[in-house]
Amino acid sequence: MGRYHGAVCRLCRREGMKLYLKGEKCYTDKCPVAKDTTPPGMHGPSRRKPSDFAVRLREKQRLRRFYGVYEDQFKRYFQMAAHAKGVTGTRLLQLLETRLDNLVYRLGLATSRKAARQLVAHGHIAVDGRKVTIPAYLLKPGQAVGVVQGSRELAHFKALVGNAPGRGLPAWLEYTPDTLSGRVLTLPAREDIDVPVHEQLIVEYYSR
Ligand code: SF4
Repeated sequence: MGRYHGAVCRLCRREGMKLYLKGEKCYTDKCPVAKDTTPPGMHGPSRRKPSDFAVRLREKQRLRRFYGVYEDQFKRYFQMAAHAKGVTGTRLLQLLETRLDNLVYRLGLATSRKAARQLVAHGHIAVDGRKVTIPAYLLKPGQAVGVVQGSRELAHFKALVGNAPGRGLPAWLEYTPDTLSGRVLTLPAREDIDVPVHEQLIVEYYSR
C-alpha cells in the first residue's frame, strides 16, 4: 500500500485522536482535532455499534498512522514482537519507538515524524558517528544519534543548537543540545510511551 497523500488532519479525525502529523500546528489551538473529533465524511459518525473486529482494526490503524509506518512493515514489527521475549504489545511499541525517524523526532531535531524521516533519508543524521539514511533503522540501548558534520551548518540545525527539545525529553533518552546529539539509555517501559492506544487489541487483531 502506498503512502497517504491526502489531508493529514483527516486521519486524526478518523482516528479520533491527535497523531501529530503536521509539526508545530499540532501543538497549537489551530489543531482541528482539539475542537472536533467527528470522523470525516458527509454522513457523520455511524450510529451502529462497531463490531469487535472493527474496534481492533481501528486500534491497529491508529498506532500504524501515529508512527507513519506502512501496512507490511507494521505487520513485520508485530511478528518480531510476537517472537521476542516479554509482553508482545509492549515489545511492539518499543520497536516503533526505537526507529531512527522516531528518535530524531523525540530528540527535537524535527517537528514531526514525517519531517524526521526526510532528514534521515536526505543523509543529515548519523548513528554512532556514521551516516544512516534508513528511517526504519532500529536503535539499541547505548547507541548515539547525531547530526552529520556537514549538515550542522544548515539553518534548520543552527536554530536548534543549545535548545532543549520543546516537547520534553522521554526519560529513556539523553540529549545534549549544544552538540545536537542524543543517546538511547534503555528501552522504554510502557509508561514511558505516551501513545494512547490499547496495544492488547492490536495483539488480538493479529491473533484472530
Ligand atoms: Fe492536524 Fe496535527 Fe491536529 Fe492531527 S494533531 S489534526 S495533524 S494539527
